This record gives sequence, structure tokens and C-alpha cells, in this order.
Amino acid sequence: MITAYITHPDCQLHHMGPEHPESPLRLDAIRARLMLSGVLQQTMQSDAVEATEEQLARVHPLRHLRALDKCVPEHGIVTLDSDTMMNPNSLKAARVAAGAVVRGVDQVFRHQADNVFCAVRPPGHHAEATDAMGFCFYNNVAVGAAHARAKYGARKIAILDFDVHQCNGTIDIFKDDPEVLVCTSFQYPFYPWRYLRSEWNNVVNTPLHAGTDSAAFRQAIEDDWLPALHAFKPEIVLVSAGFDAHREDPMAELNLEDEDYHWITLMALEIAALYADGRLVSVLEGGYDLDSLGRSAEAHLKALLGLPFGE
Ligand SMILES: [Zn+2]
Repeated sequence: MITAYITHPDCQLHHMGPEHPESPLRLDAIRARLMLSGVLQQTMQSDAVEATEEQLARVHPLRHLRALDKCVPEHGIVTLDSDTMMNPNSLKAARVAAGAVVRGVDQVFRHQADNVFCAVRPPGHHAEATDAMGFCFYNNVAVGAAHARAKYGARKIAILDFDVHQCNGTIDIFKDDPEVLVCTSFQYPFYPWRYLRSEWNNVVNTPLHAGTDSAAFRQAIEDDWLPALHAFKPEIVLVSAGFDAHREDPMAELNLEDEDYHWITLMALEIAALYADGRLVSVLEGGYDLDSLGRSAEAHLKALLGLPFGE
């Protein structure tokens, strides 16, 4: 089993000020934990390359991309919305983040890797077709899905998102697209306050009330996602891996444990093995408590590598 680990040093150049929770320290915490546990050394590591304008324009209109380019400051930090800021390197980081998922999709379709984890930031799943928001500029997982379709002819693409926040951006981009199935679990009612009651056939919403624990989470995923995934039979499984539903994460009030991330990754791998020749590409979304973020990513990577949780 080859698990690829894709990242890029430029992901660290984007920051939104010393107090902002979506900080470069997040990737440091993940890398440190994976090194310490020996998990990182078992992956095939490589650097991403920037997504091209053509790749980004498959999900974001050119005029929006150009407008974003114009927002980049020469120095200092500019505010796009109340919690999304840009420094001079933000879009450089965003381009390698999206480019990592493109590379991951290439690797699984070319049989260079069985599955992939993209350790990148800024995250992407709140970025709508024409709106940067919620710490996100380009929708990384959507760029990967569009690449799978354009380059490899994939006609059944599943996106599984277990971040504590609903993936309004991914829904905005693929709503009513019969070739993409979006499964999203999230605290409800909660940020992003958009698309929360969406009723599209290709979107499986799994709202969870504050305080939801492991057992209730797993039951909801099995009840909602599995029937949809077995009916859909994806040719590739993409994962928006946010770890902010962890009980120790300060951003929200769900109570997942480290092991839940191993469990849901195994579930996603099982679907990929059944229908998609094992192809699975995962990309980091949220996760803001540095300690539990590292442990949760470790659980996720162990499952990708075929390792048990407790070793
Ligand atoms: Zn989140």
C-alpha cells in the first residue's frame, strides 16, 4: 500500500495575523506528530506544484480569479470578510494547496500511489464559485474533482466531508451536478449559515446537534452516507478532512475522538476499494486545536497506510 503525502513549504507563507486560528502552526503540528509516531516516514512524500489558472477556472470563473488576484496586498494584511484575510503570499499558498489535490488525483489515476493525503492550507471547502470566505480562497477538493473529470474522464466522483462545518463552497460548485456526490456532516445550526437546508439530490446533509459523541456520529454516517455511496458507486473518493469536530477543538461543540478519524477513513477506503480501484485523495480542511489536530491526522494517516489505530 503506497500512501502519498503531498505538501509544500509555501503553505506556511500565508498567515492572517498572530491571533488567527488558521495558522501555519497547524501544519507544523501535523508534521511533528507524524514524525514522532513514525507514520510520516512510511509515506511517499512530495511537494505540490501550483494549480494552473486553467485548473482553477474549472470551478471558479476567470473574472472571480482575476478579482481575487487584485486583492493581494504588496505588504501587510487585507481583510476579505470578517475571518478571511490575505497577506502577500496568500494566493501563492492557495495555488499550491489546490495543486496538491491535482497532483494527488494524478497519482492515484496513474497508479503511482494507492491513496493520498494533502497536508495543505489554506483550506478550501467554504470557497464558493465566486466567493472567498471562511479562511478559504480556492476550493481545493473541487479543483481536484474537476481535474479527475477533465483529465481522466471520471463520471462518478464522491466527496466526503467530515469537517465540523458544512462544505457550503463544495455544494455551491456541484449542486445539481449528477456526476458528483457530496456527503457532508456538520454541527447544526452553525457556521457557514448557507445551504444548510439544501435539498439537492446529489447532496447528503448530515446535521449533528452540539454534543454529538462518537457513537451517534458513526450511526449517522452509516445511516446517511453508506446507502448513498453504495448506490452511487464512485470512480474516485475525495475526502475533505477537517478535524475540528474533535472534542478538544475550540471551534465547535461536537465530541469526536481520535479513533473516529481512523474509523471514518476505513469506511471511505472500503467504498474506494469496492468501486474505485482504491483511488482516494484526502485534503486537510479545518482542525484548530494543535494537539488533537496532530493526533487526528495521525489516526487518518494510519488508516490510509493500512495500520491499526492503536499501534
Ligand atoms: Zn471547519
